[in-house]
Amino acid sequence: MSQPSMDTIVNLAKTRGFVFPGSDIYGGLANSWDYGPLGVELKNNIKHEWWKRFVHGRIDMVGQDGAIIMNPKVWEASGHLENFTDPLVECKNCHERYRADQIDLTKPCAKCGKSETLTEPASFNMMFKTFMGPKEESASTVYLRPETAQAIFVDFPQVLMTSRKRIPFGIAQIGKAFRNEITPGNFIFRTREFEQMEIEYFVHPDDWKEKFEMWLKELHGWIDFCGIKKEWVHEYETPGSELAHYSERTVDLEFDFPFGKSELYGLAYRTDHDLKKHSEYSGRDLSYTDTVTGEKYIPHVIEPSLGVDRTLLAVMLSAYTEEEAPTADGGVDKRVVMKFPHALAPIKIAVLPLSKKPELRDVALPIVEKLSKKWNAEYDETQSIGRRYRRQDEIGTPYCVTVDFDSLNDHAVTVRDRDTMVQERIAIGELEDYFFKNLKS
Ligand code: ATP
Repeated sequence: MSQPSMDTIVNLAKTRGFVFPGSDIYGGLANSWDYGPLGVELKNNIKHEWWKRFVHGRIDMVGQDGAIIMNPKVWEASGHLENFTDPLVECKNCHERYRADQIDLTKPCAKCGKSETLTEPASFNMMFKTFMGPKEESASTVYLRPETAQAIFVDFPQVLMTSRKRIPFGIAQIGKAFRNEITPGNFIFRTREFEQMEIEYFVHPDDWKEKFEMWLKELHGWIDFCGIKKEWVHEYETPGSELAHYSERTVDLEFDFPFGKSELYGLAYRTDHDLKKHSEYSGRDLSYTDTVTGEKYIPHVIEPSLGVDRTLLAVMLSAYTEEEAPTADGGVDKRVVMKFPHALAPIKIAVLPLSKKPELRDVALPIVEKLSKKWNAEYDETQSIGRRYRRQDEIGTPYCVTVDFDSLNDHAVTVRDRDTMVQERIAIGELEDYFFKNLKS
């Protein structure tokens, strides 16, 4: 199956209420996006499933939720103040800005077409700076975190003490990160404000290779669970010259986005870089003592780092399906179906009375009220039933429940499966059991 274009996905996202341009009534704000009613459900489901799988689902993991604004010394110690930079070039003619490592510097400016107008690359720090307190002076400069990871390193001794975990174990966190990207773009792929799901997994230095492979496998398992197409995912072994300042090995999981193969997730071996630096800068001993062997060492770290927004984009691109479907009059129609895994679908069940007649509404409303105590269920009575099925297909709702005039007598409804379009007659009293059995978690 070929991939939909970005325009198709962006359009569906906007018109169906997944993702809207941010600050739209004021003309927008470059590359900022807001998640609408369906987008926030999809995003929350992604985060919830990730947490369920990697925090609740494993006895060697705990979670935490650190502050976005941290003591600026954190960024000094981690190396972000010095190294979290991108090489910036600017066209002297039209002032368009580029990342020097993403373009051919010998070519003319892509915007104005002039040759030899690009400045020399200059390092540009991507951290957003702001001020804490009422005075805008350097003493009060603070930064919005560019990654969630550092709070985990800084809190390591407290988590270790309170959680009673022993190495190997990991700490997970989900939260916003901010980067003043030179060239944001491609919808929600690269934005200046985004969300990450990160794990710092602490290991004995001798074990890093084995645990690295374990996490690589886990990431593929997660990708599979999300319905992200395996054939569009590739491992990229980052060469030494491209490694981040903290990493000794990084494998990127790249995805074939419509605009080209690009990073979806990163898996990095961060060595003992972070804990060592924080020990040095804070004066606190961040080493670990093995209670069995008595060995004292600074733990090494494997970091699976996942973008929530890029996950959502890859999930939408993978779920998008166009199919031929029969029409009521015997013809053939095209239908668009978002084949989300049930666990990620924003709405699990739509309850649709065949018409707006009050007697059907009286049966349908109690059904949706009951089902929505267990699942995210929606009620919709406008437009023809055919169009309502198409809308539910397009937003990926696994099941539609239709209340018709027979329901008044047989106390049963029609349940339609999103993927097979097969319809079954189910007694109203058995609906909950039916969905417990058929909705996959
Ligand atoms: P890139 O090379 O695309 O700039 P990166 O290597 O800087 O990404 P990491 O620092 O490894 O990214 O961040 C971990 C994850 O966070 C990425 O794999 C991606 O999913 C997500 N991410 C990073 N930057 C952005 C961004 N600007 N917008 C959305 N998601 C992002």
